[in-house]
Amino acid sequence: MGRSPGSPSQPRTPSSDRATPTPANTPAAKLAQLIKGSSCTVALTGAGISVPSGIPDFRTPGKGLWEKVDPMEVAHIDAFRRDPERFWSFYRPRLHSLGDIDPNRAHEALAELEARGLLEAVITQNIDMLHTRAGCERVIEVHGSIRSLSCQGCGEVVPIERSEERFDAEGVARCAACDGYLKPDVILFGELLPAAAMAEAEELAARAELMLCIGSSLEVYPVAGLPSLTLARGGRLAIVTQGPTPFDADAAVRMDGDVVADLDAVLDAL
Ligand code: ZN
Repeated sequence: MGRSPGSPSQPRTPSSDRATPTPANTPAAKLAQLIKGSSCTVALTGAGISVPSGIPDFRTPGKGLWEKVDPMEVAHIDAFRRDPERFWSFYRPRLHSLGDIDPNRAHEALAELEARGLLEAVITQNIDMLHTRAGCERVIEVHGSIRSLSCQGCGEVVPIERSEERFDAEGVARCAACDGYLKPDVILFGELLPAAAMAEAEELAARAELMLCIGSSLEVYPVAGLPSLTLARGGRLAIVTQGPTPFDADAAVRMDGDVVADLDAVLDAL
């Protein structure tokens, strides 16, 4: 503290700030430096960023809607095709509950980074639309979203706001035009990820100088392959996630506290 960085008669490197004493060499300060030094930063987010909004991570057993069911079974495309009534008895209240949830400070932090020109895009595994509702402009939803439902027969798209009137007496959402089954435009287990969204995500990951992985265990492929694309092209990873990930040893910065507090600290350090 108070130490003068170098001689006053030595103004040779005015643009260098390497002599500036950093008050704390914290992970937040390091991450802020990486963000400032990166010309292309991309965020990759998972369930952990929405937990502070009250959406449980379904991998955490015994929580809310997922308490009595195995999501791998009930939220599977085969379950939808085999027994749409049972599927909707589970999924309809989930759609309702997600629609009432607001973004939290962590979503807002990413929107702020984007607004300040420090974040190119958000790639998310979440279907809750909270990045968009927080104000993010470029959001790539690789697992789809609850924004709409689509007819499996004729392809008609029904916005979520108008989905409730489409449920029949059995509690199954049906198309008004062809009476086909409406499926939420989320990627169910057993379905391929949307090719266009994945191509966009891969292009961004390959171009990123910094990938900011937030609230994801980075274990579910193919999304979990995105950080490898960044590393392979010489980009860096920052991981802000509770619990271990397969990329911890590769991360330039690793934070594992509360996601809201961690991102607030990074914004404060910028
Ligand atoms: Zn139809």
